[in-house]
Amino acid sequence: MSSDAKLKSELVRAVAATIDRHADELTALDQAIGDGDHGFNMKRGFDAVIGEVEALSAKPWPDFLKSVGTTLVMKVGGASGPLYGTFFMALGKDFPSELGAAGIAQAFRGAVLAVQARGKSERGQKTMLDVLIPVGELLQQGELSPAVLAGEADRAAEATIPIRAVRGRASFLGDRSIGHMDPGARSAALMIRAVGQVLEKS
Ligand code: ADP
Ligand code: MG
Repeated sequence: MSSDAKLKSELVRAVAATIDRHADELTALDQAIGDGDHGFNMKRGFDAVIGEVEALSAKPWPDFLKSVGTTLVMKVGGASGPLYGTFFMALGKDFPSELGAAGIAQAFRGAVLAVQARGKSERGQKTMLDVLIPVGELLQQGELSPAVLAGEADRAAEATIPIRAVRGRASFLGDRSIGHMDPGARSAALMIRAVGQVLEKS
């Protein structure tokens, strides 16, 4: 396996492993303000990605990311399936074929905008975007430290606790959504930390 393919496979395995380890936590968060399926949805999606990891890792970066997105759309279900699927498909669409910080930051920004368009959502509505947007902004400012990016993602996920949800199932609860972390914000932060830990070692 080429070192590039090895990196892709390690990224997939690390993200799937963190989702697996935290599936019960994601489910509990979604039980508080949704329907309690976020951990299960995400685990099903990343189990499917793991099932294809060798074929996926052999693809160039843009196709690899697009294929991850397609699998997530097909397998995750719920609101988060199409949204995370859109994120990875859009990330792949604009991703540089040779890894480079500026190109990756630009692709990340495009992916965030695609999620916003798909979800008709913006920052401050208690969703995954409350994590993805600030992390994307740091990337655009040239921040490359995985620890800084993961720290920002965790902070941003925590910051969804006092927000009243205005998108997704949690919005049905109105003020009763206040006081709970958004499950999608938490899963986004977990994935960002897992990716960072792999990149730090590579
Ligand atoms: P469902 O809400 O259909 O049960 P999940 O539980 O898997 O799906 O995912 C819920 C998460 O999806 C929320 O915590 C939130 O982060 C995200 N989400 C829901 N609707 C939107 C939206 N319109 N825009 C962005 N993110 C959203
Ligand atoms: Mg749910």
